[in-house]
Amino acid sequence: APVLAMHEIRHAYQENLAVEDVSLEVKPGEIVCLLGPSGCGKSTLLRVAAGLERVQQGRVELGGESMGSGRSHVPPEKRNVGLAFQDSALFPHLSVLDNVAFGLESLPFRQRRRRAYELLELLGMERYSRAFPHMLSGGQQQRIALARALAPAPQLMLLDEPFSSLDARLRDRIRDDTLHVLKKVGAGVLLVTHDPEEAMFMADRIVLMRDGKVVQAGTPLELYCTP
Ligand code: ADP
Ligand code: ADP
Repeated sequence: APVLAMHEIRHAYQENLAVEDVSLEVKPGEIVCLLGPSGCGKSTLLRVAAGLERVQQGRVELGGESMGSGRSHVPPEKRNVGLAFQDSALFPHLSVLDNVAFGLESLPFRQRRRRAYELLELLGMERYSRAFPHMLSGGQQQRIALARALAPAPQLMLLDEPFSSLDARLRDRIRDDTLHVLKKVGAGVLLVTHDPEEAMFMADRIVLMRDGKVVQAGTPLELYCTP
């Protein structure tokens, strides 16, 4: 089963229709980029997938399981998804290691710390394990937010403009590393971006949106190399 399937999702804020009959799938290990201009409904779709918004119309399934609709809504913390946003705030009073270990409360103490440390190593941040968030640069904090999202080994990662608060040089490097890590852990990914270059670089498949609708979908080659 796909890690994420969204069927005919429609979502409105009062009378403002933000998403109109969008269907999409993310297969295991696949990176799908939602690409389109600001205001076209990308974040709304991601928030519906995460359970931060209730399904108003349509269906959401994670690993083949329905996430409910209306009253029977499965909340974000019960969805086994990793979330990272543009300005993912770390917990300021927790060390870097404890930030990454935060979602692992089901593990015994030592395993929890070992797992968190592994994630820090994967992102090249192990030497900051005892530091506190305010001691880190924006790019370093971004890496920690990613490590925290990946730590519980979610089947699906939902990333909303995860690099856009970084300056251009840093962004290229962190994108590179992130792509490498995502491929290594094999999670399915739905990544929101307004940057075509980022989508070209990261995506196995691009879903192009405009005014709340999908206008085109395909591999980067299919989207950019056909007349
Ligand atoms: P994108 O992520 O592509 O920038 P959004 O999903 O954030 O698009 O927004 C889609 C539309 O929904 C926009 O018109 C936006 O103003 C509106 N919108 C988004 N969030 C809210 C909200 N919480 N309340 C009201 N309108 C919203
Ligand atoms: P993005 O384009 O990344 O979604 P925005 O700046 O459009 O970022 O939105 C930032 C926050 O404001 C989001 O939580 C979104 O839901 C909310 N928002 C966006 N548009 C509106 C709106 N018209 N009314 C109320 N909240 C909104």
